[in-house]
Amino acid sequence: MRQKSALPARRIGLMFSPFSVMIIVTKPDATDDQIQHIVNRIHEWGLRTEVSHGAVRVVIGVIGPEDLIREKPLAAIPGVESVTPVLKPYKLVAHEFRGTHSPVNIGDVAVGGKEIVIMSGPCSVESREQIVSIARDVRNAGATILRGGAFKPRTSPYSFQGLGVDGLKLLAEAREATGLPVITEIMDTKQLEEVEAYADCLQIGARNMQNFSLLKEVGRSKLPVMLKRGMSATIKDLLMSAEYILAEGNFNVMLCERGIRTFETYTRNTLDLNAIPVLKAETHLPVVVDPTHGIGLREHVAPMAAAAVAAGADALMIEVHNSPELAKSDGEQALLPDDFADLVRRVRAVAQAVGRC
Ligand code: PEP
Ligand code: MN
Repeated sequence: MRQKSALPARRIGLMFSPFSVMIIVTKPDATDDQIQHIVNRIHEWGLRTEVSHGAVRVVIGVIGPEDLIREKPLAAIPGVESVTPVLKPYKLVAHEFRGTHSPVNIGDVAVGGKEIVIMSGPCSVESREQIVSIARDVRNAGATILRGGAFKPRTSPYSFQGLGVDGLKLLAEAREATGLPVITEIMDTKQLEEVEAYADCLQIGARNMQNFSLLKEVGRSKLPVMLKRGMSATIKDLLMSAEYILAEGNFNVMLCERGIRTFETYTRNTLDLNAIPVLKAETHLPVVVDPTHGIGLREHVAPMAAAAVAAGADALMIEVHNSPELAKSDGEQALLPDDFADLVRRVRAVAQAVGRC
């Protein structure tokens, strides 16, 4: 006969208790000592905190099992003005969790500040000459982050799958040559250590947006993560996937709109510009837009990049190749370096018009 579980009742209670998040807003005149005391008290109770400093007040997110949070007198701690539960299904990514937008640093580049950040490079890393030369071109045109895939999620198993670890090493060489920090895709939990050794930011591709074990794994990484929207995912699905990463403790997450599947076949995907203002309102995370995969046709990438910035995007991801007809992936959508330089000029003009730079 099977034995009943030997776990103590309290632990079972915790295991099945729903997760809950409360937002503490401190009084405008709360002292640093009071804020430290609030945090210490909450930790003594076995709950986690995440502190955000706004212009006037400090917001403290309190995270833990609902039954534990409910029984604690959070509102009675000196310096606390209000305690409000986050009722949305996504909690840690919700805008109210921080009460402000939070920039994410990739190397020394801040994504989500006033400046529109441009990440650029080829779809795939193909050779030393190719990646170093394109890295120089995009840096000279104004990109501040280098992209390039070493592990490639291809529709066909017979297409080029990427150079793997050799590609990561070449990305690190290109960073050495240009000073640009590197973002690259991780496709599998087994790749984390290798990608962490060479890259500055992890990219989760559209096809892996709901690979929950991968999301949890990068949630335990020290590196920032850019999460791309799945091609058939709703905005809510995207936010719930981001929640997995934050729930593991990694708050350095950016969301990327890269086009969704619609009935339209003229373009590769349909860039969902609607997602930009919606995400900016719903979450504190920076919003990146990838108009290259969004439209899939090089001659139409620049206007969509400009539109994304006008709609409030914090950063752009643009594919560039120095000989697109020879590219091992996505050649038809890659911009030539000179066309990329024109795109950057156009984007900067729009950025200024909307109070960014
Ligand atoms: C890419 O950035 O090269 C890529 C594969 O993008 P996505 O995951 O958006 O298709
Ligand atoms: Mn690509």
